[in-house]
Amino acid sequence: MGYDTEAIHAACEARGSRPIIPLKQTPGVKRGDHRPPECEHGTWTFAGSDPARGAPKWRCPTGDCSPASRWIKADRLHPLVPRESKRWKSLYRGRACVEREFGRLKHEWALLPLRVRGVERVRLHADLTILAKLACALARAAPAQP
Ligand SMILES: [Zn+2]
Repeated sequence: MGYDTEAIHAACEARGSRPIIPLKQTPGVKRGDHRPPECEHGTWTFAGSDPARGAPKWRCPTGDCSPASRWIKADRLHPLVPRESKRWKSLYRGRACVEREFGRLKHEWALLPLRVRGVERVRLHADLTILAKLACALARAAPAQP
């Protein structure tokens, strides 16, 4: 939830990944800015996203409005994978896997005891750690032929 900022959402999208981050209670959220559009027919429903357009589509529940659907520019409050969708909930449940992997890299693969300073060297340390782990996984999956 601490990662729910406009900058982090934009950085994820810039790297071609979808942010799956729970909503932080900001003044805008308390005002209800994050809620789907509404009309006299009820609350609009999610009708798919277009990453190229950078917007999710929302549709009038009965289709009697004109236009019956609208693209809403994606942002922290209206992500391409809406927080009320099943897909968001399923992806969010998967976060434990990534935390487990980070823990393993830190404690079993020596990612944690940093003995270098500076982002370039720390990046190299992390890259080499992950490379070593992937090489071991590859060797296990496809043992060398004699
Ligand atoms: Zn309507």
